[in-house]
Amino acid sequence: MGKTTGFMEYPRAEDPFRGEKERLNDFEELHVRQGRTPRREQASRCMNCGVPFCQSDYGCPLHNLIPEWNDLLYKGFEKEALERLLETAPFPEFTGRVCPALCEKACNLASDGVTNRDNELYLIETGFEKGWIRPRIPAFRSGKRVAVVGSGPSGLASADLLNRLGHSVSVFERADRPGGLLTYGIPNMKLPKSAVSRRVSLMEEEGVRFVTDTEAGPEDLEDFDAVLLCGGARKARALNVSHADAEGVCFAVPYLSEATRALLSGREPAVCARGKHVVVVGGGDTGNDCVGTALRQGCASITQLEMMPAPPESRAKNNPWPEWPRTLRTDYGQLEAIFVQGSDPRIYETTVKEIAADDQNRVTSVVTVRLERDAQGKLSPKAGSERELPCDLMLIAAGFVGCDESTLRRFALTADARGRLLPQDGTHRLGEKLFSAGDMRTGQSLVVRALADGRAAAREIDARLKANK
Ligand SMILES: Cc1cc2nc3c(=O)[nH]c(=O)nc-3n(C[C@H](O)[C@H](O)[C@H](O)COP(=O)(O)OP(=O)(O)OC[C@H]3O[C@@H](n4cnc5c(N)ncnc54)[C@H](O)[C@@H]3O)c2cc1C
Ligand code: SF4
Repeated sequence: MGKTTGFMEYPRAEDPFRGEKERLNDFEELHVRQGRTPRREQASRCMNCGVPFCQSDYGCPLHNLIPEWNDLLYKGFEKEALERLLETAPFPEFTGRVCPALCEKACNLASDGVTNRDNELYLIETGFEKGWIRPRIPAFRSGKRVAVVGSGPSGLASADLLNRLGHSVSVFERADRPGGLLTYGIPNMKLPKSAVSRRVSLMEEEGVRFVTDTEAGPEDLEDFDAVLLCGGARKARALNVSHADAEGVCFAVPYLSEATRALLSGREPAVCARGKHVVVVGGGDTGNDCVGTALRQGCASITQLEMMPAPPESRAKNNPWPEWPRTLRTDYGQLEAIFVQGSDPRIYETTVKEIAADDQNRVTSVVTVRLERDAQGKLSPKAGSERELPCDLMLIAAGFVGCDESTLRRFALTADARGRLLPQDGTHRLGEKLFSAGDMRTGQSLVVRALADGRAAAREIDARLKANK
């Protein structure tokens, strides 16, 4: 702990976002990164607590050595701080941008927690700028070959570690670019795609082979000593109402993916919100990304429906620290909607009762209904609360129900009741040489959890390959 009074001298100060007026004109990065002095001040707020909850199971799933690198950053040893960070964090340029920073909620400074995520991003981007990040080519090769199916964060993290451990790794990806939801899902303003391609290029230089546009099945993978399935949990929850198949009703991930594909190739997206009344079903983070994207595309109006009640604005008594606080968050997309429309786009305790379509099966409006809890706590529609909203584009962001069926069929696997490939014994091993990791194993989660799970699977595979030498 470099500065004993840091947390009393400096208030918490996060990297700001660019102003709404400016950022709504483009898909460029939201964050404005702060320089060395503000970062050192923020790092000096870390108290090096006797029990650092930030790096425990309550906080960072990667168990990043947060107090150690904050201390080095404060003292000006940026390269050493970065080395300490990279001991446990495979890709801080991703987590530094999109992690919800579980560590900060678990910080002993509570709602004034240290800005670890911004500090992390500062360290890795400084590393890239100063040329400290170079390909780390393994000194020896084990002679073992591992196939990773899926190149999202779990696939990338496992490939990275397996390669460092000397195994020859091939990553198979169905899409035209690697990255999984980092590339096609999370919008460019939250995570610039240049950051993903920079990391993929680095991994290629380090010896990882990427095979894109390839839906891998067991017949392609017979020559490998181990196969790790990292296919994600991409089966979206559907709406059980009439006209759910109407033109203009679209799931969130295909919509967001197409927005990114169009952005990267400089063309108009096939599904675009321009001039349309947009209704987003789902009040979570994916829904928020749809709000931000539709606003940038120039929608006429945006509404976001959420079934659950609004969470309290401050930490509630039933959310004991250091657990994640369930409080009302107003994310970038919602802030932008408030800027454009003058009010929060979210309507709580409300769902879709009906979708109306014209004679060509194109969506024209949506009838919403309020939900209320009965004596048993069950949510049911409130009679007479129906409301019709104009709608030309409905984006369904109502969550995910497990991994997609094509990979299950190809590998002759059966998912559990929650659509996961989660081995009963809690390991990552599905069969003799078959393993699973990331959202495919745990259900839809977070980038940082997918990274941690990919690394855990890599360690298990490495131990197995060494035992079978
Ligand atoms: C819109 C959206 C925004 C999100 N934003 C955030 C955020 O801000 N912060 C955060 O922490 N989390 C966020 N998440 C969650 C996070 O992105 C996921 O938890 C994480 O990406 C899961 O990683 P994964 O590697 O398990 O799977 P994925 O990222 O889903 O990657 C799986 C990959 O496997 C490929 N694949 C599947 N089957 C095959 C096959 N047979 N052959 C070849 N390839 C195959 C798929 O094409 C895909 O590229 C978001 C999720 C969504 C949907
Ligand atoms: S990865 Fe997330 S939880 Fe871990 S230190 Fe970084 S911001 Fe915190």
